[in-house]
Amino acid sequence: MNYRHAYHAGNFADVLKHVVLSALVDALKAKPSSFAVIDTHAGSGCYALEGKEAEKTGEWREGVGRLLFPDVGPHASTGGTLPPLLRHWLDGLLALPGNEHGLKLYPGSPLQAAMAMRETDSAQLCELHPEEAARLREVFRHDRRVHVHQRDGYEALKALLPPKEKRGLVLIDPPYETQEAEYGLIEQALKGALARWPTGVYAVWYPIKLRSQVQPFLRWLGHCGARRVLRAELLVRPDDSPLRLNGSGMAVLNAPWKLDQTLREPLRALARLLAQERPAEWRLDWLVEEEAAAPSPAP
Ligand code: SAM
Repeated sequence: MNYRHAYHAGNFADVLKHVVLSALVDALKAKPSSFAVIDTHAGSGCYALEGKEAEKTGEWREGVGRLLFPDVGPHASTGGTLPPLLRHWLDGLLALPGNEHGLKLYPGSPLQAAMAMRETDSAQLCELHPEEAARLREVFRHDRRVHVHQRDGYEALKALLPPKEKRGLVLIDPPYETQEAEYGLIEQALKGALARWPTGVYAVWYPIKLRSQVQPFLRWLGHCGARRVLRAELLVRPDDSPLRLNGSGMAVLNAPWKLDQTLREPLRALARLLAQERPAEWRLDWLVEEEAAAPSPAP
């Protein structure tokens, strides 16, 4: 358990993950009934971009930093404006108390979800690392909608699913310290979760270093039992080196209807904004596509 998200908060992979998260929470809000967000690997909740960890890597500057000034510099290729979903997401970050004079604090997935949730929605956050869990608790000490659990997020799913709201989202965002083992844990957890709560929306973030490391998981998703599985990927470098993070993806099981349409323009814009040595590549496709029929109800 050496991973600390503070070194990576706001990097290009976080941008993809959190933009998809934002679209998913918006889709859940399309219906008036309450929903639950379950974050199995929550992190510490909020990260100082001028803190020593974030400054040490500077990763956020090549991530969310690129969106702050899309109209200037070598990456000014969006025609001066961000697509509405990206603008809405960025405005959400800037609305965090402490960010009145620019993006100083980067909210992690649980805080981004909580900021977008309504009064009647709820969140269950799991974080195994004691110090990270303590910080997370501190972030949400006054928020009665949010419950923090210092425990294994995969194990916790057995107790937390299905949520009483019967509607909602599970985010699985582990550190992948040992890749193969992590995919095994994710598959086990998803199998159990889908059996207990077949209609939940499940979003899984995955790193892309060597393409061949991800393929078995993507193949597994193709027959995991979910009605629809959407894959959104952004690659800032070719996926041919095991030594560095070249890109990342989000797989969304039981994806909301038309999520692909919602994400298409934002992904296209992110590929332009986050490009590094060469044009970035993106993919958005269905690994499992429901028969074209009447749309099923919003999640
Ligand atoms: N989801 C967060 C976000 O987007 O802001 C970032 C999470 S970070 C990638 C992964 C976190 O999982 C780390 O804080 C780590 O301590 C925690 N962790 C590792 N193994 C875990 C487990 N089995 N259960 C719960 N948390 C775990």
